[in-house]
Amino acid sequence: MLAQQLSRLATEYTYERAKLFAGSEFGNFVRHDIAVEAKKLVTFGTFDLAVKASVGQGVWASVPWLAFFDPLVTETATKGFYVVYLINPNTQQIILSMNQGTTAIYNDFGATRGRDVLKRRARDMADRVPEFAKQFSEAPIDLGSEAGLPAGYEAGHSFGKTYQAGTLNDDMLEADLHQMLLAYAALVNRGGTTPSEVMQEEANGKDIEETRHYILSRRIERSQKVRKAVLKVKPPICECCGLDPKHDYDFSGPISEAPLDVHHAVPLHGLTDGETRQYKVPDDFMVLCPTCHRMIHKIDSPSDLSKLKQQLRFKIAREILDFTS
Ligand SMILES: [Zn+2]
Ligand SMILES: [Zn+2]
Repeated sequence: MLAQQLSRLATEYTYERAKLFAGSEFGNFVRHDIAVEAKKLVTFGTFDLAVKASVGQGVWASVPWLAFFDPLVTETATKGFYVVYLINPNTQQIILSMNQGTTAIYNDFGATRGRDVLKRRARDMADRVPEFAKQFSEAPIDLGSEAGLPAGYEAGHSFGKTYQAGTLNDDMLEADLHQMLLAYAALVNRGGTTPSEVMQEEANGKDIEETRHYILSRRIERSQKVRKAVLKVKPPICECCGLDPKHDYDFSGPISEAPLDVHHAVPLHGLTDGETRQYKVPDDFMVLCPTCHRMIHKIDSPSDLSKLKQQLRFKIAREILDFTS
């Protein structure tokens, strides 16, 4: 089904984009039907992925696309890295690609330097998951457009596979997509586009395996999506010291902005290389104030809340003793 739909997108796009953008039925077919069908393919997997298809915003894009975003990395095509089907309407080709958000890089470096940065990162990405990259092609892709965004996608392409519309079938599509999503998961697990030395610095000199787990764990904790989901079901109170921003500081803003962290308490050590990480909301998380959060990362087991509470009890005991003396 999706193979057929993508073929239709590639073959009919040039004709359809000659029509009015507003209210285009073809536009709805891409945004809705294609996205729904693609979502079905990933819903039963172990991946927590957002799916989006686009033909442009307000005007027809030169290159329509269907993308899969890991919310730990990005939820938009403008930044981070993600898996995407890019359509070349001129050659009627469908390109499965491990690619990157260009807008954020262009804003940071300008278009010309930005493309160099994208190319470099694209190589780094392939080098970080070589066993997957070699199943695909690292050859440059051609999107048949001189416009800024397509040029960015060409520069940001790390590895992938090109199909001619009409020759693609669902078995092939699903097998390749599955491999590509495994590559995506492995890439996220191994730090994505963050250079090793930066990761090692943050992880404070742990070995590479530990460093990757540490960085991934922190990535999970900082994800806005995860944070919101945890604070939606868990009381907004530090599970260790009981700090309650609402009562203790008269905090009155939205819960998601409360001065509390969500701590990913399940060690990732069991994760074998290339395996998709899993995290359960809220089971795998603790709500902690920033101080307790910092301390729990310093004890031997970052899931040992009772150990942390025990340490804190000395403080409480001290206060009581001071009070009574
Ligand atoms: Zn606390
Ligand atoms: Zn933590």
